Amino acid sequence: MAIQRTFSIIKPDATKRNLTGAIAAEFEAAGLRIIASKRLHLTKAQAGVFYAVHAERPFYDELCTYMASEPIVAQVLEGEDAIAKNREVMGATDPAEAAPGTIRAKYALSKGENSVHGSDAPETAAEEIAYFFSGLELVG
Ligand code: UDP
Ligand code: MG
Repeated sequence: MAIQRTFSIIKPDATKRNLTGAIAAEFEAAGLRIIASKRLHLTKAQAGVFYAVHAERPFYDELCTYMASEPIVAQVLEGEDAIAKNREVMGATDPAEAAPGTIRAKYALSKGENSVHGSDAPETAAEEIAYFFSGLELVG
């Protein structure tokens, strides 16, 4: 498997509880290198663009309100098979279904307030990285 880049968000429920460092440490322990990182407070409109793929889902409005409720930390992670590895470290969307030891099993509050986002495929990783970072900000 080649070296990949993936996009991650430490979500509002986690930044609010001062878990930024704990979650970043989980990525690093899994062999993912944080090659870009910034803290932002999204507007609801910016969150809506990021999650546009879910616009027709019943949870979309609540999701966008939540993503704009507190700061987030947007990061780019690099490593061997980074997209799948990050999804593995994150755990399932619903913390009740997340494998023991995963970030969501340890930290998520609910299926909505689930502490982290991670890209699900190479195409979405590239789009999501480009939405948040310029090429100059990716320091591998
Ligand atoms: N979400 C939610 N209710 C649901 C499904 C998803 O609130 O029934 C939220 C949750 O924050 C999730 C995000 O919408 O992380 C995006 O959903 P997706 O299915 O892409 O899950 P993920 O890729 O984050 O595991
Ligand atoms: Mg997703």
